Amino acid sequence: MVLPPPAGATAIVVPGYFACAGVLAFAAVMSTLGAVVRRSRLHLCFALVCACSTGACLAIARYYSAPSLAAAEAPMRDFAFWAVLLLYSVFAFVAAYTRVPRQRPGFVVLLALAAITLYENAHTPFGIWLTAVERSSAIVLPWGERLFHAQALPSLWNVGLRLLALAIVGWGVWRLLGRKGAGDRRAGLLLSAYLVVLFAASVQGALIDFGVVRTFHWIGLALVGFAMLMGADLILILREQDVAMREQAFRDPLTGLANRGALLERLCLHCDAARAGFGAVAHVNLDHFKVLNEALSHEVGDRVLREVASRIACACGEAAIPGRIGGDEFAALLAAPAATRQEAEQAIRRLADDILRALAAPFVLGEQDLHVAASAGIASFECARAQPAESFAHAALALREAKKSGRHQVRAFAPGLQSDAETRFRTVEGLRRAIASDALQLHYQPQVDAAGRVAGMEALVRWLDGPHGLVSPATFIPLAEETGLIHALGEWTLRRGCAQLAAWRREGIDTGGTLSINVSPWQLARPGFVERLAHILRESGVDPPALTIEITESAALYDLQETIARLHAIRASGVRIALDDFGTGYSSLSLVRDLPLDAIKIDQSFVRGIDAGANRHLVKAVVEIAAELRLDVVAEGIENERERSALLELGCPKLQGFLVCRPLPAPELTAWLAAHELKIPVA
Ligand code: C2E
Ligand code: MG
Ligand code: MG
Repeated sequence: MVLPPPAGATAIVVPGYFACAGVLAFAAVMSTLGAVVRRSRLHLCFALVCACSTGACLAIARYYSAPSLAAAEAPMRDFAFWAVLLLYSVFAFVAAYTRVPRQRPGFVVLLALAAITLYENAHTPFGIWLTAVERSSAIVLPWGERLFHAQALPSLWNVGLRLLALAIVGWGVWRLLGRKGAGDRRAGLLLSAYLVVLFAASVQGALIDFGVVRTFHWIGLALVGFAMLMGADLILILREQDVAMREQAFRDPLTGLANRGALLERLCLHCDAARAGFGAVAHVNLDHFKVLNEALSHEVGDRVLREVASRIACACGEAAIPGRIGGDEFAALLAAPAATRQEAEQAIRRLADDILRALAAPFVLGEQDLHVAASAGIASFECARAQPAESFAHAALALREAKKSGRHQVRAFAPGLQSDAETRFRTVEGLRRAIASDALQLHYQPQVDAAGRVAGMEALVRWLDGPHGLVSPATFIPLAEETGLIHALGEWTLRRGCAQLAAWRREGIDTGGTLSINVSPWQLARPGFVERLAHILRESGVDPPALTIEITESAALYDLQETIARLHAIRASGVRIALDDFGTGYSSLSLVRDLPLDAIKIDQSFVRGIDAGANRHLVKAVVEIAAELRLDVVAEGIENERERSALLELGCPKLQGFLVCRPLPAPELTAWLAAHELKIPVA
């Protein structure tokens, strides 16, 4: 039985413990919120430490104010309960704080141990902390406060848990000593100092439990100190994470330049209604970087990009802010607005010229000298009126123009470019709808042999665009290739062409030879093309040798080996392959030798004027080489009788052109076939 405190005595320890519990509970709630918002394991572990410390402090406060031994039993058991969980959560916290990579086995062992200990605690009189509990006495503190004290001995559990605590402290300090870096050093110092304080409090507790000293436990104070110091450190960590995340969000990791977001933010500062003056941006793109990147590995590509970044940054100096806004796309924004639009335009043009000049110098990478040219688009804007994204878009349009007109030059934005872009956009949207709504048509142009017999035909796509009439594929195929619509369009052409071929077969109409369908390099390069083609053939029931696909020389530019492999697979299925527009691209004889071909189509630019002697020797050579390689030859675009006889004289076996027949829709072509057959003289 503990006597009530003498009159005038000041209660410090018990209220102090309640206060500690309050502070710890507050810290637990705050860090739980932090853990949820940030999805942070570290904060969750800290919340656990604080929650267990709260439980332990409350149990101690209740123990110290117990009126009898019987009343002290529950707080004693509760204290042991929270002490075990505290040990576990301190372990988890140290592991998270020192970023231990694989701590699962440690957790499992400790959790099993904790479960056994808690079970034992629940089933032992007065809990596991103390044993041989006989009676109670009071500890009287110098300021007169009386604390309940059970006359007992520390249990083996007590000793074991304290040793375990010692081991965890030692492990934590060892982990922290191994860390380097300024932030880590601060964290290391804090946690090691604190683990030592916790350890000292634990030793002091052991001395009380063993009856060596008679005073109150310091553990509560130690726990609150821990919570406060660690809480402060966690706030600092969050701050640093915020700064790092902001850095990361606004910096391009490869080159260290500002990224698109950062440049846009800077541009927003310029585009302010209250601001006077004119700003300007430059959009720089490397010419043919893709080719270099693929030919020389991405690692070399990355090194080039870093070097490009440093040259651009150097050219910008203090006058502009450089940034990387995409793969090989860079930008620069004038650092401060100029007084007039003219000044802004002059400044950005000077800068763009400097950048292009800097990039034109060879890049020395090891033994290699690489040449990377670039093009630039520039645009100026009035700060009070401009929209940030719009200014970038204007520079991009100007860049497009620079690329279109031969690359390696600077082009300025002009309002006309905007309307061009709008027209392009409308065309693309219209084409998208046309593909979806089946508003495209296929026309067919026959090919004939020397005797005039139909020897095959070519399918040519047409787009009947309401108010604009029939749009030529020469206009929309490049757009479709640029926007990826070519895949849907190409698939439609193949399906429709094969369906028509099957229909002619069913109706017993002889089309004379194979049907040629143009296949864009992009279609051929897309994985799965070979399988899709085979599927379309199966679905339509067309015999593969009845189909020829026409490819252009640029099909082999992307990846020659892959293209050759695909063409072999297509040819193995029985489909024939023709090389279209021969002589217009990067024609090389080795291409004709390496690609698995069945035919060559001589482009109409070689046919023009052939009657007057132009290109004769070239066409003759092609015909001879083709004969040598056992390839069929079709000359395209024959418009008059003279061209026809000149080609026949040179030995060209097949002809296609307006002279024979213009491309026609299927029903008209069927009628043409019937009429044409009647006209051919029987040999
Ligand atoms: P191409 O494959 O070289 O087709 C021959 C082009 O020459 C066709 O133009 C045809 O109408 C035209 N032509 C035929 N005979 C004569 C002639 O005597 N004189 C003149 N001046 N021209 C003649 P079209 O139909 O405008 O097609 C242009 C290009 O568009 C085609 O050139 C082909 O590369 C592409 N193309 C057409 N249809 C498709 C398709 O379904 N898919 C793909 N990927 N490209 C296609
Ligand atoms: Mg063609
Ligand atoms: Mg052609």
